[in-house]
Amino acid sequence: MILQCPDCNSRNVTTVWTEYTFPYGVVNPVNLTAKVPVRRCGCCKESWLDYIGEAIMDRVVKDFEKQYPKYPNQHRTSYQDGLWYTKSQVQARREIS
Ligand SMILES: [Zn+2]
Repeated sequence: MILQCPDCNSRNVTTVWTEYTFPYGVVNPVNLTAKVPVRRCGCCKESWLDYIGEAIMDRVVKDFEKQYPKYPNQHRTSYQDGLWYTKSQVQARREIS
C-alpha cells in the first residue's frame, strides 16, 4: 500500500499508531478508545486518518454496541481539531488527490 499525502501528493508519509479517544452517543456520550494509524506527511506536516483508521473505529463502536445494544444513540463523528475526518471528507480528499 503506497501512502500519499492528500494535500501535497508527497509520498514521504509516516504512520504513527495513536490511542484515539472519541465520544459515542449524543445524550450521554461515552468515550471509546481505538488504536489507529495516523498518517503524517513529512513535507507539509499534514496529519490525517484514512479508511483503515475508520474501519478500526467502526470495529470498536460495533463491539460497544454488541455489549450495550440499548445504548441510546447511533450517531458519531470522527472529526476533531482538524485532524480527524468523517468518511465523506476522507472520500472527498481521496478524489482530489
Ligand atoms: Zn503533504
